[in-house]
Amino acid sequence: MTKPPQFELLGLNLQELMSLTSSLGQPGYRARQICQALYKDRISTLEAISTLPRGLRQRLEVEGYRAGFPIPARRFQSIDGTVRYLLKLGDEETVETVWMPEGDYSEEGDGVENWKRSTICVSSQVGCAVNCQFCLTAKLGIKRNLTAGEIVGQVLAVLEDQAVAIDKDRINLVFMGMGEPFLNYENFIKAVRLLVEEVGIPQSRMTVSTAGIVPRIYDFGKEEIRPRLAISLNASNDDLRTEIMPINKKWDIEALLDAIREFPLRNRERVTFEYVLLAGLNDSLQNAAEVVKLVRGIPAKVNLIALNPGPGIPYGTPEDDRVKAFQDHFIANGVPAFVRRPRGRDIFAACGQLKQTQELVTVEHFPFI
Ligand code: SAH
Repeated sequence: MTKPPQFELLGLNLQELMSLTSSLGQPGYRARQICQALYKDRISTLEAISTLPRGLRQRLEVEGYRAGFPIPARRFQSIDGTVRYLLKLGDEETVETVWMPEGDYSEEGDGVENWKRSTICVSSQVGCAVNCQFCLTAKLGIKRNLTAGEIVGQVLAVLEDQAVAIDKDRINLVFMGMGEPFLNYENFIKAVRLLVEEVGIPQSRMTVSTAGIVPRIYDFGKEEIRPRLAISLNASNDDLRTEIMPINKKWDIEALLDAIREFPLRNRERVTFEYVLLAGLNDSLQNAAEVVKLVRGIPAKVNLIALNPGPGIPYGTPEDDRVKAFQDHFIANGVPAFVRRPRGRDIFAACGQLKQTQELVTVEHFPFI
């Protein structure tokens, strides 16, 4: 007997659930109940939606619907409290999601106790097509886009595993995991809307990072509900940027900055520029001076990340004092700059390290590169 097709309820918005319930001859409030069960109660099966009459649950099941979020297949715990989750998707692909609590470290060295806020780093694709030379995820090539349900599902899986009470606990989201969110734009934006409207995480506590997919930056500026914007700049001039981020051939620094200058920032909002420091390549004071010039006039802040090393990554990590000198140059020129503390390096959970646990596949380049 062939299995009936499976339709995921997770990822549907209220409007879509309304049309589903009405097509089954059900009143509109049933859609609300399903929404509540999926996104607030974090139910893991259709059967568990106890607000629905048994008959309706059975009907949905017969029609091939299922509910629930991805199951953590593995969980790697760092000494700094970071947890890297390997989540299993319906088609046996896996995706990684990272939990980064801030708080008091436990004496046993097995995590953070009494965390006061926490950040979840969310993936948008399985693998990545952008091929940045310093990033491990790039080695996988692109396997596929995640659906909106799979993007939201990562957050729900981690919230559930960490027993988060969304109304009480302070949760930030960064769309900075595997993949390029702006190459999976529709699903990414749909997931954001569900996370804001149904899960209940404020958009002001979300940040999306892009390698610089310029047309989508313009689209993103028109969204009513949107996270804050971060740009992976990583180089101070086009030659250098093209060398380490081939996507710069398609959209160079000038095109990128044009889009950012036109970006409608909200009250007190700044654009974040991320800059991975590669020893001896882009970490001189001359480079810092060039970046200061580039961002002049843009309400910006700079996040500096010393390279997180990985197998096959042909660059080195600069010494702390070199990173500090680079940072000081920004501060002296009135540009706020922060050094990002690496989280979970010991479990390969830090920036650019996701997917270490998976086999390497042939890198398929996107046609635009
Ligand atoms: N594709 C998006 C989202 C991934 S964000 C983007 O490029 O912005 C990942 C962040 O980690 C980026 O700012 C990237 O520059 C940084 N990063 C990638 N590899 C890294 C590494 N090996 N060490 C430190 N940071 C890295």
